[in-house]
Amino acid sequence: MSTFIFNELNFDNHEQVVFVAEEKSGLRGIIAVHNTNLGPAMGGCRMWDYASEAVAVNDVLRLSRGMTYKNAVAGLPIGGGKSVIIGNPKAAKTPALFEAMGEALERLGGRYITAEDVGTSPADMAHIAAKTKYVAGLGASGDPSPFTALGCFVGAQAAVKHYLGRDSLEGLTVAVQGLGNVGYDYARRLHAAGAKLVVTDIDQAALERARVEFGAEVVATDAIYDVQADIYAPCALGATLNPATLSRLKAKIVAGAANNQLATAEVGELLRRKEILYVPDFVINAGGIIKVCYEYYDKPEADVEAHVREIGVTLAEIFKRADAESLPTSVVADKLAEARFKH
Ligand code: NAD
Repeated sequence: MSTFIFNELNFDNHEQVVFVAEEKSGLRGIIAVHNTNLGPAMGGCRMWDYASEAVAVNDVLRLSRGMTYKNAVAGLPIGGGKSVIIGNPKAAKTPALFEAMGEALERLGGRYITAEDVGTSPADMAHIAAKTKYVAGLGASGDPSPFTALGCFVGAQAAVKHYLGRDSLEGLTVAVQGLGNVGYDYARRLHAAGAKLVVTDIDQAALERARVEFGAEVVATDAIYDVQADIYAPCALGATLNPATLSRLKAKIVAGAANNQLATAEVGELLRRKEILYVPDFVINAGGIIKVCYEYYDKPEADVEAHVREIGVTLAEIFKRADAESLPTSVVADKLAEARFKH
């Protein structure tokens, strides 16, 4: 452990990393504040049964750094942070656990604002809110996923316009991997715009709904990479873009909601060489955090949609610059974020 933290790739000049333990509730958590140049750090609180503390540290640092980039490119007045609670979300949750986390956030005095994430729910956030006001997304106006789906849809439109020179998605085939909160809503928008859908999921009920509601063709989970599609839309798991899947993909565009789609940073360059337009994940999937940020700061709900639609404008700039500079879109998106938050 001696040089473990500072040598971590994802440590990347984190402003602050706080380890929290509380005996009575059994809380063991980590709060990572990557960068607050643009405002207080905002990012969700994940609860997960991590295989080891080192895995938890790496996860929180990676996610926290990612939030800085996502929030900066989305043009939000917030920085990047994340927190994790080590424990099984199905077995180890108690109100006291989240209250203890709330007390830890309160001690940070607003440098980090949390929200729900994988393994946590609006009910858990309400327990955190008993001890601090530095918590967003209490479920007051519902799930932010529809805004993430809207961002994906405008992102797909921007990609189609740039790469295929078309104003409409009519008649294009989209391979949607994952019909969860975001994927299903994204599929609904794609269907309404006249796209043909080929879908996969491990949830048979979701597949059946999509078949009936959208006339979607259903394929096995692994077959999604071989679909003769114009757009591949990863909306389930991370790291689905890797040398093995790239050798199979037929799509010209990748535009989906999943976080961390590139298995390694180098895959961005592989996509460019294969002449596949990759829509950077943290740009296209920012609709949810835009919504949560507006809600936290009591900004007009009516303005959220216009802000989410700006994702399309930002992407058009990224695509143009990537072409002009012969760079992967992922690299250009990183540079855009860094130009905004590194000052
Ligand atoms: P979700 O859990 O509601 O949906 C995920 C779906 O993927 C589920 O239907 C699940 O059955 C399916 N799935 C799981 N394994 C699969 C497999 N091997 N093949 C095909 N499908 C599989 O999650 P979500 O909220 O819809 O988020 C989807 C992705 O988008 C995640 O990567 C998430 O991190 C990311 N994301 C979500 C939001 C948001 O607002 N919810 C915001 C930003 C990013």
